[in-house]
Amino acid sequence: MSLAHANRGVVYQGPGVVQVDTIDFPKLEMNKRLCQHGVILKVVTTNICGSDQHMVRGRTTAEQGLVLGHEITGEIIECGRDVEFLNVGDLVSVPFNIACGRCRNCKEGRTGICLNVNPARPGAAYGYVDMGGWVGGQAEYVMVPYADFNLLKFPDRDQGLEKIKDLTLLSDILPTGYHGCVTAGVGPGSIVYIAGAGPVGLAAAASAQLLGAACVIVGDMIQERLDQARSFGCETIDLRQEGEMADKIEQITGEREVDAFVDCVGFEAHGCGCNHGKEAPATVLNSAMELTRAGGQIGIPGLYVTDDPGAVDEAARVGALSMRFGLGWAKSHSFHTGQCPVMSYHRQLMQAILFDKIDIAKAVNVQMIGLDDAPKGYADFDGGAAKKFVIDPHKMVS
Ligand code: NAD
Ligand code: ZN
Ligand code: ZN
Repeated sequence: MSLAHANRGVVYQGPGVVQVDTIDFPKLEMNKRLCQHGVILKVVTTNICGSDQHMVRGRTTAEQGLVLGHEITGEIIECGRDVEFLNVGDLVSVPFNIACGRCRNCKEGRTGICLNVNPARPGAAYGYVDMGGWVGGQAEYVMVPYADFNLLKFPDRDQGLEKIKDLTLLSDILPTGYHGCVTAGVGPGSIVYIAGAGPVGLAAAASAQLLGAACVIVGDMIQERLDQARSFGCETIDLRQEGEMADKIEQITGEREVDAFVDCVGFEAHGCGCNHGKEAPATVLNSAMELTRAGGQIGIPGLYVTDDPGAVDEAARVGALSMRFGLGWAKSHSFHTGQCPVMSYHRQLMQAILFDKIDIAKAVNVQMIGLDDAPKGYADFDGGAAKKFVIDPHKMVS
């Protein structure tokens, strides 16, 4: 039996509009599917993501009424009958991917493409279009299924709350940025280019530094975000300025290509100064092939969709992009796409935070806000603020 609480959450109302509404208190079930393997969380922090913005900008088939939020950290207030190794009171990070722990892909560590949590396609997430219908966690309370498998418990509750501004980034963007770098082959001495200085790009830049990169270059067209990247030692390229990308990279490193390229932009990419900043969904992918050395790897955490009602052309409406794939082939590039399998990285990255090896909240400029400020957070983030907005629904942090 569930505890009788009220609940409020951030609800998508249609292009450009989100609203904080009363929503159902979570149960240990989803669409009549029993979830005795799940827990109910009191949400401690829940972050707004660039992935949410694709929906809120009307660039997906998300429907009105969707409760948003896939970046969740919380305190367990109720355990289902089949939860064995977690307890009420535990403070936990929730990987944004929902994974059963029982299918072939989960067994291989590919938790971003679990086969049992979304009837429509492999892979699921909380509060996301086409991701299985699981209720989002930009709310006071949320249900997390397969809790023993999915959740990462912080070793100490007080220490967890003290470092919550960093630990809250373990549910998505820190592992995602790190995964982008790992799949781009970043290691000691690498020269890395990161496209996009949003929170994922900044998390990738901090991750590249953690992995030992010699030089991390971040490109964007928003000055405030470039300044944020410079604040922790990155080089930057301002895409508003005319000129070839290879020339700009050469000015920084003395060479026209990089070892590793990470796309932290996705399908809503804009062209550089040369095409007057118009949307150009394949531009980052084409730059990746141009700028990555032969034999290099390209990590693509930036999101690409199969349906885009607001696309620039007919082909892009179904995610078909105009890529110069022959160039990538000729240079023997490796491409790595898809959701980050958060669970593959979150424990190690938690330890990096707890032992002060990465200052991730500072790198992405975490800004705590209340639940009622979420609509303003969405608007400011959409306006290009160099901030990662973190909602604190119960005022447990601020
Ligand atoms: P964001 O929208 O804040 O950042 C994107 C940035 O890219 C913006 O600052 C924008 O100005 C910049 N940009 C646009 N065109 C560019 C270009 N041609 N070159 C360089 N920069 C350009 O979003 P975010 O929260 O940082 O997320 C980035 C992407 O990562 C999104 O597509 C998001 O959906 C995706 N994402 C993927 C995963 C995953 O698991 N794969 C997880 C989280 C986020
Ligand atoms: Zn996210
Ligand atoms: Zn699975």
